[in-house]
Amino acid sequence: MIIKGAYILKNYSSEPQKLDIKISKGKIVKINENISENDDEIYYFNNKLITPGLVNTHAHVAMSIFRGVAEDLSFNEWLFKKIEPLESRLNKDIVYWATLLSLMEMASNGIVAFCDMYMFENSVAKAASEFGIKAVLTRGLVDVDGKGKERLKENLDLIENWHGYQDRIYIGLGPHAPYSCSSNYLKEIANLSKNSDLIITMHLFENFWEKEKYNLKEILDTGIADNHLLAVHCVHLDNNDLKLLSEHNIFVSHNPSSNLKLGNGIAPVLKMLNYNIPVSFGTDGPASNNSQNVLFEARLSTLLNKKDKPQNMKIDEVLKMLTFNGYKALKLDGGEIKEGKSADLTVFDLNNPSFFPQQNMKKHLIHSTPKVYATMVNGEFIYLDGKFPTIDSEEVYKQFTNSYKKVLGIEN
Ligand SMILES: [Zn+2]
Repeated sequence: MIIKGAYILKNYSSEPQKLDIKISKGKIVKINENISENDDEIYYFNNKLITPGLVNTHAHVAMSIFRGVAEDLSFNEWLFKKIEPLESRLNKDIVYWATLLSLMEMASNGIVAFCDMYMFENSVAKAASEFGIKAVLTRGLVDVDGKGKERLKENLDLIENWHGYQDRIYIGLGPHAPYSCSSNYLKEIANLSKNSDLIITMHLFENFWEKEKYNLKEILDTGIADNHLLAVHCVHLDNNDLKLLSEHNIFVSHNPSSNLKLGNGIAPVLKMLNYNIPVSFGTDGPASNNSQNVLFEARLSTLLNKKDKPQNMKIDEVLKMLTFNGYKALKLDGGEIKEGKSADLTVFDLNNPSFFPQQNMKKHLIHSTPKVYATMVNGEFIYLDGKFPTIDSEEVYKQFTNSYKKVLGIEN
């Protein structure tokens, strides 16, 4: 496949250049000013800007089924009173259709890869494998209710069945949070991570009461950050905590919409960046955000962090968080358009008022409202000009709506 005529932003620190890209077997094999070779598939992408694919480093994708169900509630009311009772009505089919809907939403927002933590994760893996997106999936691990062993067994089965599938689906370990996992359970998970070289992702200090009840050093002493920890939220951390994070192999997923919407506050992103902690963006689940668009998260975070000093959060830094840091956080190779790398690309439509003046197109990615034209993973389009070439989207809408009615107990 050859893509011709587009502006290419090779990486977060470069400037867009008009270049052609040749893709073979899912990889970028050539980038040049004018590739004159013949190919069966040639795409003329004039008036398009291609960037490295965007990454969503934290989601619970199947929670699209709960979008709009629990609004204007405190975190405790939202999770423990509203969402958890409804979660008991989920099954593998509902999670499958709810996942596909979320994958459509993410692909239409330019997301090529995501990290998930939830239940019925086998259905998430099945949906992601069919849809064509890249994913790091984890079974949410909780042991405070005595069911820790069976959840861990589900996670081990996922590894057995999916880890490395088609160079796209990977499995990690997902201890839910310090308040839902005992320290012995965290130690067991940490050992598994080290022995099998799997990433761990965990919600960490999302709420103010976690900071009051738990000690970060004690949590890290379980070994969970010895291999690779993708820590989610990290809102309530002081300077000592941040220093401690920077001394471990920790990557942070910053989810500003969810943190604001659930009244949990604003993460100290600028301090994290000063400590050289690699920060990326996550959407969190669609029941607490409620959209799956990392470009929105990037813009929101940028504006929040500029409020006292506009020199903060420069374009290159934010683009790095959206692309390069996202790949690092998921332990995937990518985040730049380069020969030998996977063809994971986000294509923007420059023929859009929000992209003018086109001379400043790179800045519009963060500060305007860019429109995604296509999304490609390993050389295959998962979204192209309003359509989803790998699935039957009408069937997803229908099955999703039926599933929603089942969960909420709505007749017809
Ligand atoms: Zn979450």
